[in-house]
Formats: sequence, structure tokens, C-alpha cells
Amino acid sequence: MKLHTGVCCVLCLVVSLAAPAIGQTGQVSLDHVDGLNGDGDIIAGETITFHIRFYNDVPASIWAFSNGFRLYSPDGATWQPPSYAQTGTLAALFDQYLYYEGSLDGSGSDTIGFTGLDMYFPQIGMSPGFSQVVLTISTQVDVAQVGRHLCLGSSGYAPYIPWEWALDDGETSVTPTWSGPHCYEIAAAELTKTIVVLDEFSSPIANKGFHVYRVDQNPPTFTQHQIGTGELVTDGSGCITLPSGAFVTGDWIKLERKVHTEPARRHVSELGTMYTIWLDNADFNTTTGDMSYDAIDSDPEQSIQVNHATLCYNLLVSVEWDASITYLSQLQENFAMMSNYLYDVTDGQCRIDTVVIYDDGGRWTEQPDYRIHADNSKWPSLNMLGYPGAIRVTIPDRPIEMPRKHYGPVGTAGLVALDYLGWNASFNLSPDLREGDDYRTKAHEFGHYALGFWEENKFFGSRCESSPPSMGFMDHEYRTPYVPGAVDPEPYASEMSCSATYSDGSCRNTWQWWFNNNLSCWDMFYLQSGIYDDVQVVLKRPEHQILPEGLDYFPGPNDDLANLDFNVGSLIVFPIGLEATTAYTATAKVHGLDEGDNADVYHETSSGRRVKQGKTADRPASSHGLIKVLGYRVGDQLEASGGHGVSVRLESPSSGTWLYGRLTVAKSGFPGSEGDTLNVILAPVQGDYPLVSSATLNGQSTEFHLQVYQEFSEPPIVELRTDCGGFASTSMTESGATYTGSFGLSPGSKGSLTYWAMDDSLNTFFFTAEYAHYDIDSVSGLPIASSADGMCDFILDTSQELTRVMVLSSTFAVPTAGLTPMAAYAGCTYALVTDPNGSLMGDNQISIHCGHLQLLDSSGTCDLMGQLTVFRWDENIAQWLSVFGSSFNEDTGLLTADITQPGIYAAFTVGDGNGDGIHDGCESCCGLYTSGSTGNTNCDVDGKLNLSDITAAITRVYIEPSVPLCCEENGDVNCDTKINLADITQLITKVYLDPLFELCECP
Ligand SMILES: [Zn+2]
Repeated sequence: MKLHTGVCCVLCLVVSLAAPAIGQTGQVSLDHVDGLNGDGDIIAGETITFHIRFYNDVPASIWAFSNGFRLYSPDGATWQPPSYAQTGTLAALFDQYLYYEGSLDGSGSDTIGFTGLDMYFPQIGMSPGFSQVVLTISTQVDVAQVGRHLCLGSSGYAPYIPWEWALDDGETSVTPTWSGPHCYEIAAAELTKTIVVLDEFSSPIANKGFHVYRVDQNPPTFTQHQIGTGELVTDGSGCITLPSGAFVTGDWIKLERKVHTEPARRHVSELGTMYTIWLDNADFNTTTGDMSYDAIDSDPEQSIQVNHATLCYNLLVSVEWDASITYLSQLQENFAMMSNYLYDVTDGQCRIDTVVIYDDGGRWTEQPDYRIHADNSKWPSLNMLGYPGAIRVTIPDRPIEMPRKHYGPVGTAGLVALDYLGWNASFNLSPDLREGDDYRTKAHEFGHYALGFWEENKFFGSRCESSPPSMGFMDHEYRTPYVPGAVDPEPYASEMSCSATYSDGSCRNTWQWWFNNNLSCWDMFYLQSGIYDDVQVVLKRPEHQILPEGLDYFPGPNDDLANLDFNVGSLIVFPIGLEATTAYTATAKVHGLDEGDNADVYHETSSGRRVKQGKTADRPASSHGLIKVLGYRVGDQLEASGGHGVSVRLESPSSGTWLYGRLTVAKSGFPGSEGDTLNVILAPVQGDYPLVSSATLNGQSTEFHLQVYQEFSEPPIVELRTDCGGFASTSMTESGATYTGSFGLSPGSKGSLTYWAMDDSLNTFFFTAEYAHYDIDSVSGLPIASSADGMCDFILDTSQELTRVMVLSSTFAVPTAGLTPMAAYAGCTYALVTDPNGSLMGDNQISIHCGHLQLLDSSGTCDLMGQLTVFRWDENIAQWLSVFGSSFNEDTGLLTADITQPGIYAAFTVGDGNGDGIHDGCESCCGLYTSGSTGNTNCDVDGKLNLSDITAAITRVYIEPSVPLCCEENGDVNCDTKINLADITQLITKVYLDPLFELCECP
């Protein structure tokens, strides 16, 4: 826009109205301006010269003149203090010149007065017809003034001297006309500019196309304006000539090229690209985290290094239930937050590009990257099929499994302390995915899945003491410590391990170090550097950056996720729009449970799918038995079953240990709106059916077993559901105390078994087991077999030749033979099944994730976690045996033990067994029923000393030394801190030979 046209006309009109009626009054005009561009705009950075012409159209000579001029801006522009000069032949025509300088500071209004007098004979002055440029006024404006305006106007330069010319009669004066004011827009200089595009090593990148953008300096969005429509291609010397007028000095220029497209290995038809690698010229300030691009300078040629690479991933996400718009839009934001966090973790070198989200089970069985389960008890997990030594990025053949929302581990500050089993939190806490650390856990799982990292919170041995509170996001991605009061893990929680993390040899025992060829995450990420599309792509590691004083990492970009440096989350494309649904979130209450118990709730949808909704809350009383059922519709069926947190006992069968109920809400008679509660009434299963669930793998055949201790009224029916959508059902056959079900259906990589059994009252009830199944390719082996619930890992020696491995998990009641009375059960048994079956070779370990548990005794004050022990079920003698060397690590929340054979494993506490209903650890069990005397080795509540005490001591010393007494201290009857033959001898003496013989008092 050119302001001067309009303003000129209006003011010309005013001036001419004010002029004398006689036409011949002299004319002062702006002859021309130097420094304008083709559009007639002032060019920033160039000298502007106004040329002012006098034209004497009066039929007389002019002997004196007085004219003032001023520079001003109607919209706040500033300019360099102007200079002026007299030109032409005027100097010869007048005797005297006077200049008046008003303020000449380049702002507001700068005034220059110009006066000439011809006082001495011969007086010539300006003759009639005189027409010349007589004065020039010059200045310059800088690029910051672009868009504003600069004007040249007239001025009667002092209060006493008017704008006038004096005629040669010495009496008459005229007021010459003025052609102005003249106003000009200030425009940027049109650069003719050549960019030399260089790689990381400063070599020109020849004959490659780049997208070129002018970038607004408006973090965190950095709006881009593309220059041209397609790519601009470098010539053989790496040069690109920028289109004239595209940039001005100081503009940011971004050059970008996609150098690699990695085809998808999963979901090929849905989203054919796994990730792309882009190169650009972004640069990060490693102290502030600020991102910038190169600023255009005024040189005709400028070199720009294109050496910042970004890995941009595409994801297919399947949500199991028919989700609400609210949930889906929060999920989109959740992925945006995840991308911003990932950008921070990778120092601005990895982000998420496209996320395709299906709900209602869409693409569930078609290899999505993420499966989001309705199940509130699903532990976030990814079963990595083994890639020992695979240092290149490999997408595993299994998806990342997430619950509806992951609330983090127990004790995370800011969350309520979770009770007994963590899932009751999911009823009381906000379901909003934008709150909490769920997005960080999605990024952690992405680290396993896409970047190939293994855990750094799992160790062979214990955590090294020199490590910081977190070794990086593959160790501890949460913002807050596991344990309240522990050292704050930030800022490492948004970093990756680097060579410095592993400089201490005692830290080189993480799974990451072990399974990934002795590499830190950064060193492994760096291995994706290389030549792509003939261009050098070099990923930057912290040790090769200039880092802030005292740090071995670059904290940003996006170190403060509430105050982003670059909002890469906003760049995510979600191709599928949000769709409304008639399904809603229903509140269900399961009745019949005791406080502290959980029930598993299943949802049969109208489309015939069986969706596990998870576990009901167990405490406090106000939410006990409650669960939020996602994607519910009136008419859908709910089924619940569950049992006590403490396992049943073979010795003293009790009824009511397993409960089962079913609810169908009819279309009529139920209002079916959000906020109503669906009541599921559980009835106790009649009869006591503790059992262990196992399987046999042989070649391609798979058989599932239930080993029972009381037969069902009829053989159970078992339903198999695989994660590929397979379904089969069969009646189990009975042989001895074992029921067997076999299927022609391949078990796939994961699935569930629903057992339908009949109780003593001929009522049918169900319980469920889940499995993870690994078909092992002989090259890679299988270093870790994880359970389907993600809570248990079997670490296997890869030198042994296993062709198939299955981990079965079951929460159904188990027998308690071999356990101390009142032993607490950690909630799940895990069966490791292998083909070939037999002893394991080499070093093998079980690792059960117990960090989410909070095992308290019935008083609610005594923490039993330290007593957790791995037990193995011995099928031959039908009892649990504790596994030697089992230990619970409070830091990591892992219960581990070395194992030598496949089998059924579970975690129990080793309580005192004194029968008072209070677990030990906080009180002494010694002498509880014997007034403080030792010897009651069977812990009978009458405090009797008899043959069974001698038998218990003999069993402890000679038959099963690995099984502790119900109260070890009771067995040390001579108080020498050992339990051995001397104690047995003293017990025999006391019971049979000398009733007055005194066993020692409890310490
Ligand atoms: Zn992990």
C-alpha cells in the first residue's frame, strides 16, 4: 500500500484552496526520490535522497525565498539524522543563504529551513521560468522500520519566517505551491542471494532439493512460510539462488530435506511408513534450549550448514473400547505431550509425526503400534522378542500395551497412596490423560519399541551407587520419585543414558548395557547416523555438544514442558477425526467382596467382543467394589469374578474364596445414563477349588492344564482368545487330578483362557488366565520372556536352544501347602513353560514386578513387602517350595530369584505363622503361645510341645532346609542362633526324657 497517493491528494486540495486566487505564485515540488524500489517504496538500508525543485512561474524575478521542509512518520518510524545540500546554479544567483536546523535526531519530526537573499547589485535572483532542483535532503531507514511510512512535508521552519517568495519590486510576496506532503512505505531490500548448502562436515550438498521456508521468530510454534511451491535444488556446487524479494536481512531461513523413508514393518496397508528422517538447519542453544535457524545476512553469498536431523515416527493406535470424544481428544493431546517430551529426551532429534487412532477395537488385531486396553490393571508393557546384539533400530513384532491410563507406581508423590493392589487408584483418580505421567510412560515404551532400548531400571545385581536418581527415561521416566522423600529424579528423567552414565564399571549391569552390546542409549541412538540419500546425517550426542557448566547433558529443548522451546506436539497429524458415540462410561459396583478384595470385570459388548475392564477398587470403603466401565451401552453384559487377596488353604478348606456374578442391563427398566451405577451381585462359589494353571508345549501343539485338588462337578469348558482375534472353545478332559484342553488354533503371541467350571451347587462360574507366547527364531534366541500382564519377566540364557516359550499368568486361588499360615499372596502365579521341557541351562532368573503392591498386615501398619519371597510349586509333592536366594529390592520394586527349571512360580510372604492373624516383621513370633519360651516349632496356638514339634524341627534341619519354620526363632531352642541337631536333641529331651528340662527363653 502506498499511503502518499491518498494523503497527497487530500492535502494538495487543502493547499490549493489556501493559495491565492492568482495562479502564478511559484511552485515548490518534489522532483524525484533516489532509493525507491519498483513499487515506489523506500528501501530499508539504502540511502534515500529527496530532490526538491523550485519553478518560478511568476512573471517577475524572485529576490528572496524562505521554505522549510520536514521529515516525519505518521506511524512511528525512525530514520538516520538527515543531511542536506544545495544544488544547481542557485548558488550563483543569491548573495546569502541561511539554513535553519530544527531537531535533526531522526525521530518525531526533523525540520530544515532554507532561505536565500539577493541583496546586492546586480540583483538577479530566480528569473521568470527558472526551474531547477535546488536542494537535496538525504537519510536512511533500517530494516526494523519495514512496513512503516516516512513523509516529506513543508514547514514554515520558524515562527517568524513564513513559507514565501519575495518579488523583485521589494514589496510583493507570493506563497508558492507545494506538491506534498509525500509519504512512502518503507520496504525491505530485495536481496539477490545465493545460499551454499553444507553438510555436517562443511562439504557442499550438490544437486539435492530442499524445501525453503521463511520462519517467523515466534517460539514455540515457528510459523513457516514456504518459498516457492516445491523444492529448490542445489547446483553442482551446493548453491541455491533465492528468489528475489523472498528474504530481507535478519529473516530466519529454514532449509529442509527428507533424506530417508523407512517402510513400516507392521500395519503396512494402514500406515506404510514407520518413520522418516529429515535434515534441516535448526540449531539449539544448549544452555537456554532456544531453537533458531540461520539469519539472512547482507552478503550476496551465505553458507548454511544443514546438520540437524529429526527422526519422525508414525503410529497406529487402537483403543479397545468405543471411546468418548472427550477421551479421544485427550488422547490426541497426550500424544502431543509425549512427542514434546520425546523431543526433550532426544535433544530435539526425535518426534512423532502422524498418529492414526481407531477406537472400538478398530485395527486391534492388525498390528497397531499401541494397544490401549480398557483394562485398568494392565501394566504398560512391551514384550520384546529377543534381539540380543541388535544395535540397529528394530520394530518388534508385538505392540506396546497400555491401560486406559497409567498412574505410575505406588508412592508417586502427588498421587494418593495406593492401597493393597494399585488399581483402586484408577477409580478415584482423574481419568484425564493430560494429567499425570501417562504420556511419559508412552514415551518410555516407545523407547523399547522404536529405538530398541532395554530397561535401565532392571539390573543384574543391584543399582550402582554412583548413578544419579535416574539413569534416564529408560530407568525412571516419572517426574517424581517412586518413594516419597527420595531424591528427585529430574532432570535425568527427561534424558537418556550416555557414556558418562556407564563410566563407573559397577553401573554396567542394566539390561540395556547387557542386551545392547555395552551401549548407552545415546550411543545406540547415535548409531542411526549415516549416509542417507548421499547426504551425511550425524546425530548429536551430549558429549559432542557445548554443554552448560557442570552438566553432562543438554537439558532441553522443552526441558520445561509447561513452557516449550518448540511445540513439536502441535505438528502431529491425526488423520481420523473425533467421532461421537452412544456408548458411555458406566459406574459398576460389584457386591459380595470383602474390603481388600478385587474382582475382575469383563464386558461383553453388543458386537460380541469380550473386553476386560480390569479390577474393582478394594479400598477405601467408599469406593470398594467400584469400577468405571468404559464404552458401555444399555443391554451389554457385565461379568465379574474374584477372590480374596490371601490364598486359600488346603489344610482348612473354606467356602466363599471365589466369587462370581453376571449382570445384563435390559434396555427397558434402566435409564442408562452416565452417573447411574450398575450393580453386579457376586455369589460365592460353593466349594473350594484351589488349582494351578499350566501348559505343555510340544512341537506346534499346545495343551492347557488345570491341576486341581478337588474335582469340579463336571470337566470345565475353556475358551481361548488370541490377540489376533482367534477364538476356540473346548471341553477339558480329565485325567487324575488334571484337566486338559487342547486346541488346533495357534495361540499367537498373546491371549487369554477363560475357564467355565461348575461348583458344588452346580452353578457355573469362570476364572481367567492370560498368556504370552514366543516362537523363537534360532538366530536371535529369547533373552526375556515376559508375562502378558507385564509384571513378570523370565530372564533366560540365550545359549540354550528353546523353540517355544509360554508364560501363563493366573489370579485364581492357589493351594497353600508349604506356605506359612496367613502368608500373603502377591496376587498372581506365573507358569514358565518351555519346549523342550526340562531343566534350564546356564543362568536364568525370575523377576516379578511388585513395586505397585502395598502389602500390609491386618493392623494396617506393618509393611510386609520385605518378606516377599519367590516360591515354586512342586507338582510331585504338591506344595510350594521357597526358591533359594530370592530377594526383594525396595529400590526397584523387583522380586528376583535364580531359577533352574520351568514351572509355576508365585510370590508370597513368609509370615510368622503364629496364627494370630497378624503378619510378622513388626513383632516377634517367638514364644507367642509358650510364655516366651522357644520350642513351639509348629506354632500351635495351645503352645504344646510334642512329637509334631520334633517332626517340624527334623524336617527343617534334614528334609527341607530351604523351607523356613513357621517361626524360625522357636526352633533355636539352645539359643546359639543356629537350628541343627543340637536343637532336635534338646527338644527330644524336653518332650520324652525330662519334662523339667528348660529350653532357652526367646531372645
Ligand atoms: Zn520399560
